[in-house]
Amino acid sequence: MTYQPELIYIEEGAENHALTRRVLERFPGVPTHPQPAMPEMMDELQRSAIDVFGAGKKRLLLSQFKGPFLKKCPGISPGMVCCNYYVVNLIKNCVYDCSYCFLQDFLQNNPVLTAFVNLEDLLTELDEVLTANPNHTFRVGTGELTDSLALDDFLPYSETLIPFFNRRNNAVLELKTKSDRVDNLLKQNDPSNTIISWSINPPEIAEREEKGTPGIEQRLNAARLCADKGYRIGFHFDPVILFPGWETAYADLIDLMLQNVQPQQIEWISLGGFRYRPNLKKVIKERHENTQLFTQEHLPGEDGKFRYLRPLRNHAFETLRRMLKDRSSDLNVYLCMETKEIWEGVTGKMPRSDRKLDQFFDL
Ligand code: SF4
Repeated sequence: MTYQPELIYIEEGAENHALTRRVLERFPGVPTHPQPAMPEMMDELQRSAIDVFGAGKKRLLLSQFKGPFLKKCPGISPGMVCCNYYVVNLIKNCVYDCSYCFLQDFLQNNPVLTAFVNLEDLLTELDEVLTANPNHTFRVGTGELTDSLALDDFLPYSETLIPFFNRRNNAVLELKTKSDRVDNLLKQNDPSNTIISWSINPPEIAEREEKGTPGIEQRLNAARLCADKGYRIGFHFDPVILFPGWETAYADLIDLMLQNVQPQQIEWISLGGFRYRPNLKKVIKERHENTQLFTQEHLPGEDGKFRYLRPLRNHAFETLRRMLKDRSSDLNVYLCMETKEIWEGVTGKMPRSDRKLDQFFDL
């Protein structure tokens, strides 16, 4: 899929940034408009389409982020185990359209695809924070509110971030993606301090629930190219979705993954079950009529999010972890946004007792 915005909004003050110029050169025929006030932008979106969230993906706002970029991952919610992850949001919203995406609810009052062009402010901030905390290890990701690489051809944040993180010994960069856009990554000289991680699901889930994304084979092919270049690779089985025949489908997916990337090239694998806040269910049903996400029962947890019932989650995580460990005991498998009870039930331990994960977990 090649992204082409229908309209580009430019915030006052963002016109002269190098990234703004690069985007405008890339889309010479696309109308541009100074950024209007938020109510006007929402009016325009509501007039243009019934699916306001979907229409927001086709408008691109070039803006400057005001305030601190670096935040601790919001996974720190009641009862959940925190993996000490930090996020930097350079883009808000995403060109893909996964049925389960929480952005549909989270960004419903401002769904315009927004790219922040003041990258120099981010580098200054990161430099100050990393220098002030030399004994703390920061794992920093850019994929909380977007796909880290889907737009890297014309918003090439990776070209700046990868060399920056290479100069740091107390931080590692993670670019999380479902894309196959790795051309800029393959041009870098030093891949040593960046983990490129792919979210993967069995092909039947990817086709039905992950609209606009490259297929699993394309993603794994991109992962292989990056692994061969020397990048450390991560995989996120997230969200794990349960459906009739899921065990066989996930076993086949794991085999395909390991045909492309060797266990020793894989830094970690995370498992995260399908979860959602109550408001999201209605949006998903309205926007994705063929979804099969709600064929199982879900119950709310301490953090208010709905998940599969605990015995089912335990069984699914135990099964996937065993499938992975049976193929290679060297694989580091962790659980994302799960409770201490599930961690102990599935892995028999907390992450503190795992050498590779220990440095990141905050217990
Ligand atoms: S790739 Fe991620 S951010 Fe993009 S639509 Fe899918 S879940 Fe949302």
